[in-house]
Amino acid sequence: MSRGKKQAALAIDIGGTKILAALVSPQGDIISQEYCLTLAHEAVEAVINRLLTTASNTLDKANMEISQLEGLGIAMAGALDTKRGIVTASPNLPGWHNIPLKDIMTEKLGIEVYLINDANAAALAENLLGAGRGAHNMIYITVSTGIGGGIITNDRLYSGVNGCAGEIGHMTIDVNGPKCNCGNSGCLELLASGTAVAKEAITRVRRGESSQLSELVAGRLEDIDARIVGIAADRGDPLACDIIAKAANYLGVGMVNLVNIFNPERIIVGGGMSHLGDMLLEPARRVVRERAFQLAAQSVSIVPSQLGDNAGVIGAAMFVFQSAGPHT
Ligand SMILES: [Zn+2]
Repeated sequence: MSRGKKQAALAIDIGGTKILAALVSPQGDIISQEYCLTLAHEAVEAVINRLLTTASNTLDKANMEISQLEGLGIAMAGALDTKRGIVTASPNLPGWHNIPLKDIMTEKLGIEVYLINDANAAALAENLLGAGRGAHNMIYITVSTGIGGGIITNDRLYSGVNGCAGEIGHMTIDVNGPKCNCGNSGCLELLASGTAVAKEAITRVRRGESSQLSELVAGRLEDIDARIVGIAADRGDPLACDIIAKAANYLGVGMVNLVNIFNPERIIVGGGMSHLGDMLLEPARRVVRERAFQLAAQSVSIVPSQLGDNAGVIGAAMFVFQSAGPHT
């Protein structure tokens, strides 16, 4: 039986603080969107009810019905069994362990539901509509509170056996490095994320190194975050510049591994830390030139992302259209 072409996919991006739902056209345009707070400390059921309410508001806003949808794509951080649609664990949702989210949402909404890692979704969105357009082989890295990623090979998202490929933040950079929540130690995320930058800055200011940082937070050192370190570095503060350069260097080392293994034509850097622009990217590019295989290093361009905060929902929707297959 032939199916008519559906007008939109529903996408929900579940973050640590907010839930973003959007209706997205097959071309990647956002038709309508709605936000609500995640309130992740509440019970799983309460959060799921908020997903349903936000989804329903998004439909109402666009005057559309469930039957007009190709499906629902849910993007979130963490260890997801995307093949079975199970949230194994998520850093943003502390109480969620082995939650069969795909089955729950399918039962509630009566449409196909697809689960996708949020950084994988952003990779897909950047590839189809953002800084990765035209690249057949590319890697997306989000450098934010943590570090995540997505790998596109031969125009397809590479998902691995369970759908959890692309955990770039948990590649080992320093075998003797600090212990990570994932159980490993010396992960890239512990050395180059926004959290790592803030932690290093607080430690070094407390140790007495001179810097504008304490002034910028009016002495409340616990308020130092990566954005503040970026501001100080922009003003030429030597300590802030050194901390960013160190993180960028580690990020570059992570990229060297990716370049040597995948030989991508583009690496796209998104997430909060990417607002630092060349302050972050230039040292990383230099490390890639110095350390990666020459031919592969010459062929890769390292660029900032283009889609910003909507990349998760756009990518989750595009994942629905791709997974649903071609229409007949
Ligand atoms: Zn780790």
